[in-house]
Amino acid sequence: MAKVYFLLGGNLSEREKYLSDAIQQMVSKLGVLVASSSIYETEPWGFVHELNFLNQVVVIETCIAPLDILDVTQQIEKDLGRVRKKNQYSERTIDIDMLFYEDKIISSERLIVPHPRIQERLFALVPMLDVAADLIHPVLEKSIRQLHELCADSMEVKKYRA
Ligand code: ADP
Ligand code: MG
Repeated sequence: MAKVYFLLGGNLSEREKYLSDAIQQMVSKLGVLVASSSIYETEPWGFVHELNFLNQVVVIETCIAPLDILDVTQQIEKDLGRVRKKNQYSERTIDIDMLFYEDKIISSERLIVPHPRIQERLFALVPMLDVAADLIHPVLEKSIRQLHELCADSMEVKKYRA
Protein backbone atom coordinates (compact mmCIF):
# COMPACT_ATOMS: atom_id res chain seq x y z
CA MET A 1 0.00 0.00 0.00
CA ALA A 2 1.20 3.51 -0.80
CA LYS A 3 0.27 6.79 0.83
CA VAL A 4 -0.61 9.33 -1.83
CA TYR A 5 -1.05 13.05 -1.14
CA PHE A 6 -3.42 15.08 -3.30
CA LEU A 7 -4.20 18.78 -3.51
CA LEU A 8 -7.77 19.55 -4.50
CA GLY A 9 -8.81 23.00 -5.64
CA GLY A 10 -11.77 24.74 -7.19
CA ASN A 11 -13.25 28.20 -7.54
CA LEU A 12 -16.62 27.79 -9.22
CA SER A 13 -20.03 27.75 -7.54
CA GLU A 14 -20.60 25.12 -4.86
CA ARG A 15 -16.87 24.94 -4.23
CA GLU A 16 -17.25 22.85 -1.09
CA LYS A 17 -19.57 20.39 -2.76
CA TYR A 18 -17.06 19.81 -5.57
CA LEU A 19 -14.36 19.07 -2.99
CA SER A 20 -16.51 16.54 -1.15
CA ASP A 21 -17.81 14.97 -4.38
CA ALA A 22 -14.24 14.58 -5.64
CA ILE A 23 -13.08 13.01 -2.36
CA GLN A 24 -16.00 10.61 -2.39
CA GLN A 25 -15.18 9.50 -5.95
CA MET A 26 -11.47 9.22 -5.19
CA VAL A 27 -12.20 6.98 -2.21
CA SER A 28 -14.52 4.76 -4.20
CA LYS A 29 -12.00 4.39 -7.05
CA LEU A 30 -8.60 4.53 -5.32
CA GLY A 31 -8.60 3.34 -1.74
CA VAL A 32 -8.90 4.46 1.87
CA LEU A 33 -8.95 8.08 3.04
CA VAL A 34 -6.41 8.24 5.88
CA ALA A 35 -6.16 12.00 6.45
CA SER A 36 -7.60 15.28 5.23
CA SER A 37 -6.61 18.88 5.92
CA SER A 38 -8.84 21.78 6.80
CA ILE A 39 -10.27 23.64 3.82
CA TYR A 40 -8.43 26.88 2.97
CA GLU A 41 -9.47 29.86 0.89
CA THR A 42 -6.93 31.45 -1.42
CA GLU A 43 -6.89 34.25 -3.96
CA PRO A 44 -6.62 32.92 -7.52
CA TRP A 45 -3.11 32.69 -8.92
CA GLY A 46 -2.27 34.21 -12.29
CA PHE A 47 -5.71 35.51 -13.21
CA VAL A 48 -8.50 37.53 -11.68
CA HIS A 49 -11.79 35.91 -10.90
CA GLU A 50 -14.42 37.02 -8.45
CA LEU A 51 -14.49 33.71 -6.56
CA ASN A 52 -11.51 32.73 -4.45
CA PHE A 53 -10.16 29.20 -4.57
CA LEU A 54 -10.82 26.60 -1.93
CA ASN A 55 -7.97 24.13 -1.41
CA GLN A 56 -7.72 20.93 0.59
CA VAL A 57 -5.14 18.16 0.88
CA VAL A 58 -6.25 14.54 1.24
CA VAL A 59 -4.16 11.43 1.85
CA ILE A 60 -5.31 8.15 0.33
CA GLU A 61 -3.82 4.73 0.91
CA THR A 62 -3.89 2.74 -2.30
CA CYS A 63 -2.19 -0.06 -4.19
CA ILE A 64 -2.84 1.60 -7.57
CA ALA A 65 0.18 2.70 -9.63
CA PRO A 66 0.87 6.43 -10.12
CA LEU A 67 -0.12 6.74 -13.80
CA ASP A 68 -3.28 4.72 -13.22
CA ILE A 69 -4.14 7.12 -10.39
CA LEU A 70 -3.66 10.06 -12.77
CA ASP A 71 -6.10 8.40 -15.22
CA VAL A 72 -8.64 8.12 -12.41
CA THR A 73 -8.23 11.68 -11.09
CA GLN A 74 -8.37 13.16 -14.61
CA GLN A 75 -11.55 11.21 -15.27
CA ILE A 76 -13.03 12.56 -12.03
CA GLU A 77 -12.08 16.12 -13.09
CA LYS A 78 -13.91 15.50 -16.36
CA ASP A 79 -16.94 13.89 -14.73
CA LEU A 80 -17.29 16.81 -12.34
CA GLY A 81 -17.48 19.13 -15.33
CA ARG A 82 -14.21 20.90 -15.53
CA VAL A 83 -14.19 23.46 -18.33
CA ARG A 84 -10.82 23.49 -20.06
CA LYS A 85 -9.88 26.84 -21.58
CA LYS A 86 -7.02 27.88 -23.82
CA ASN A 87 -5.46 29.82 -20.98
CA GLN A 88 -3.85 27.33 -18.61
CA TYR A 89 -5.07 29.23 -15.57
CA SER A 90 -8.83 29.27 -15.87
CA GLU A 91 -11.79 28.87 -13.63
CA ARG A 92 -12.62 25.25 -12.95
CA THR A 93 -14.91 23.16 -10.86
CA ILE A 94 -12.20 20.89 -9.53
CA ASP A 95 -8.45 20.42 -10.03
CA ILE A 96 -6.79 17.32 -8.58
CA ASP A 97 -2.98 17.35 -8.35
CA MET A 98 -0.85 14.52 -7.05
CA LEU A 99 1.66 16.08 -4.65
CA PHE A 100 3.50 13.00 -3.36
CA TYR A 101 3.36 9.25 -3.96
CA GLU A 102 5.14 7.88 -0.89
CA ASP A 103 8.73 9.04 -1.39
CA LYS A 104 8.78 8.11 -5.08
CA ILE A 105 10.37 10.41 -7.64
CA ILE A 106 8.59 10.25 -11.00
CA SER A 107 9.35 12.28 -14.07
CA SER A 108 7.38 11.33 -17.15
CA GLU A 109 5.61 13.33 -19.80
CA ARG A 110 2.24 13.09 -18.07
CA LEU A 111 3.26 12.97 -14.46
CA ILE A 112 5.85 14.68 -12.30
CA VAL A 113 5.95 13.64 -8.62
CA PRO A 114 6.58 15.30 -6.24
CA HIS A 115 4.50 17.99 -7.92
CA PRO A 116 7.09 20.52 -9.17
CA ARG A 117 5.53 23.62 -7.59
CA ILE A 118 4.72 22.52 -4.03
CA GLN A 119 7.54 24.55 -2.50
CA GLU A 120 6.43 27.75 -4.29
CA ARG A 121 2.80 27.67 -3.24
CA LEU A 122 1.45 28.42 0.19
CA PHE A 123 -1.93 27.04 -0.87
CA ALA A 124 -0.25 23.61 -1.15
CA LEU A 125 2.13 23.92 1.82
CA VAL A 126 -0.42 25.22 4.36
CA PRO A 127 -2.87 22.29 3.98
CA MET A 128 0.09 19.87 3.79
CA LEU A 129 1.18 21.16 7.22
CA ASP A 130 -2.11 19.86 8.65
CA VAL A 131 -1.56 16.29 7.49
CA ALA A 132 2.22 15.75 7.22
CA ALA A 133 4.40 18.58 8.58
CA ASP A 134 7.35 16.21 9.01
CA LEU A 135 7.15 14.55 5.60
CA ILE A 136 10.49 14.88 3.82
CA HIS A 137 10.37 16.07 0.21
CA PRO A 138 12.43 13.38 -1.56
CA VAL A 139 13.97 15.79 -4.09
CA LEU A 140 14.53 18.91 -1.96
CA GLU A 141 15.36 16.82 1.15
CA LYS A 142 13.51 19.21 3.44
CA SER A 143 10.40 18.71 5.54
CA ILE A 144 7.07 20.35 4.71
CA ARG A 145 7.59 22.52 7.81
CA GLN A 146 10.98 23.70 6.51
CA LEU A 147 9.63 24.31 3.01
CA HIS A 148 6.79 26.37 4.54
CA GLU A 149 9.28 28.49 6.50
CA LEU A 150 11.38 29.04 3.38
CA CYS A 151 8.49 29.77 1.01
CA ALA A 152 8.54 33.30 -0.41
CA ASP A 153 4.91 33.18 -1.57
CA SER A 154 3.01 36.12 -0.06
CA MET A 155 -0.48 34.98 -0.96
CA GLU A 156 -3.02 34.92 1.83
CA VAL A 157 -4.27 31.42 2.71
CA LYS A 158 -7.15 31.66 5.17
CA LYS A 159 -8.77 28.81 7.04
CA TYR A 160 -12.26 28.41 5.57
CA ARG A 161 -13.49 25.37 7.48
CA ALA A 162 -11.69 23.12 9.97
P1 ADP B 1 -2.52 22.76 -13.29
O1 ADP B 1 -2.81 21.67 -12.29
O2 ADP B 1 -1.04 23.03 -13.45
O3 ADP B 1 -3.29 24.00 -13.05
P2 ADP B 1 -3.80 20.95 -15.17
O4 ADP B 1 -4.60 20.42 -14.03
O5 ADP B 1 -4.52 21.30 -16.43
O6 ADP B 1 -2.98 22.25 -14.73
O7 ADP B 1 -2.66 19.89 -15.45
C1 ADP B 1 -1.86 19.92 -16.60
C2 ADP B 1 -1.12 18.59 -16.78
O8 ADP B 1 -0.24 18.37 -15.70
C3 ADP B 1 -1.98 17.34 -16.80
O9 ADP B 1 -2.37 17.04 -18.10
C4 ADP B 1 -1.05 16.25 -16.21
O10 ADP B 1 -0.68 15.28 -17.17
C5 ADP B 1 0.18 17.03 -15.80
N1 ADP B 1 0.78 16.64 -14.51
C6 ADP B 1 2.12 16.48 -14.32
N2 ADP B 1 2.38 16.15 -13.05
C7 ADP B 1 1.19 16.11 -12.40
C8 ADP B 1 0.83 15.82 -11.05
N3 ADP B 1 1.75 15.53 -10.12
N4 ADP B 1 -0.49 15.85 -10.71
C9 ADP B 1 -1.42 16.16 -11.66
N5 ADP B 1 -1.15 16.44 -12.96
C10 ADP B 1 0.15 16.41 -13.33
MG1 MG C 1 -3.96 19.88 -12.14
